[in-house]
Amino acid sequence: MSSAPPPADHGFHAHPSGEGAREDLLRFLDREAAVAQATNGRLAVLLVELRRVDRLQALLKGPPAAVTLSLVIERLRPALRPEDRVAALSDEQVCIVLPRIAHPTQAVLAAVKCLRALDRPIAHEGGTAVLRPCVGIATVPENRADPAQLLMAADVARRIAGTREEGYHVFQSEDSIEAEVYHGLDIDLQRAIRSNELEVHYQPQVTLDDSRPVAAEALLRWRHPTSGPIAPGTIVGIAENTGIIGSLTFWVLNAVLRYAAQLAKDGITPRFSVNLSTRTLVDQELPDIVEQALGTWGIPAERITLEITESSMIGDAERTMAMLTRLKGTGVQLAIDDFGTGYSSLAYLKRFPVDELKIDRLFVSGLLADRGDHQIVRSVIDLAHNFDLRAVAEGVEDEPARAELARMGCDLVQGYLVSRPLPEREFRSWWTAREKRA
Ligand code: C2E
Ligand code: MG
Ligand code: MG
Repeated sequence: MSSAPPPADHGFHAHPSGEGAREDLLRFLDREAAVAQATNGRLAVLLVELRRVDRLQALLKGPPAAVTLSLVIERLRPALRPEDRVAALSDEQVCIVLPRIAHPTQAVLAAVKCLRALDRPIAHEGGTAVLRPCVGIATVPENRADPAQLLMAADVARRIAGTREEGYHVFQSEDSIEAEVYHGLDIDLQRAIRSNELEVHYQPQVTLDDSRPVAAEALLRWRHPTSGPIAPGTIVGIAENTGIIGSLTFWVLNAVLRYAAQLAKDGITPRFSVNLSTRTLVDQELPDIVEQALGTWGIPAERITLEITESSMIGDAERTMAMLTRLKGTGVQLAIDDFGTGYSSLAYLKRFPVDELKIDRLFVSGLLADRGDHQIVRSVIDLAHNFDLRAVAEGVEDEPARAELARMGCDLVQGYLVSRPLPEREFRSWWTAREKRA
């Protein structure tokens, strides 16, 4: 391919989303890959996938795909250097070629800038919409300077990027295997949500002073028919990045509340904790969804705790604050999960309407062996109590750790020592037996 004659450089005049632009971009890639090879130079290919572009089009009241794409490309241009090229490869994919870069991190920087550029709502006559893009990156000389192979590598990286929080991924040689694992799972997950193939397991939380069971954390489980169990982090990653996290959250909430209603009939009334992903937290419909689900199952709001991770509070503090306030307005309790791993400051704790801090398992496991971890656990417990919050230690696996937590005044424990996460029926028996004992 690199032996093709250099094409006329007329890409500038072509419509950025039209067929001509696509051809031009591919020719440009051809030529620049050859240059990179000949000069031992560097080059990067970025594939931007515009997830939810259909939603954008619907919200913009249906302009032709080409118009939507040119709106997107207009957004991207200022994030790029004048010598970079950008064109749409399809209705949902934009390709960017970064010729002659100095270092691979330059490609990552460009990807981050592009993601940011697309983060703000895109407006058109009909309305506004936010895209959920992800970017796959392939670089030369880390990959061979072959245009077809580079595009393929960028595409594999794009699929992986779709499951990652950061929204981009640089192709590594071992990625082809990982991509195979993910491939098709998004479609399977949509099916699994529809057909109730997913399950929720419940891990009890008991008091430290008298081992009374008081609550349970709902944890998502998915046994894929051919791939076997899929880690909840992966499920959430896929859901977030294919735009179905909203339906997944809705599914989990309803599954928990349905189960809560069923247990309540027999007088079993734990408080239930449900995890919320960072991406769910920006969904403006979330408080209404919570309220509606509570109403449907007739569960008092204060019996539900929504767990958000500390890192999801760091981004846009004002927006997070507004969302948490609305959630709190529904009457539910709020917890900060994995506390201690992020960077929450005291100022956050004072302002955010939270009820509980969950001490990350990492610190709990080092509690007795590591002085630093011991200090952190103690500080988190004190901090929680100073702010009138409940302190919950997770990942408690042995009795000495439990005893130490009790000594430190921690309120609740959750961990394998008490019980593994249990399927519905086993959880019910566990709870009944434990209540009798307490
Ligand atoms: P998390 O919310 O911090 O949940 C605690 C994790 O620690 C669970 O892992 C639990 O099984 C595990 N664990 C509990 N006790 C012990 C212990 O004594 N030792 C050890 N080694 N591990 C323990 P799991 O179920 O794999 O979930 C992982 C993460 O996935 C959760 O972390 C949560 O962030 C996320 N997740 C799970 N279900 C959901 C869901 O429905 N929605 C969302 N958005 N995220 C979920
Ligand atoms: Mg949790
Ligand atoms: Mg946790």
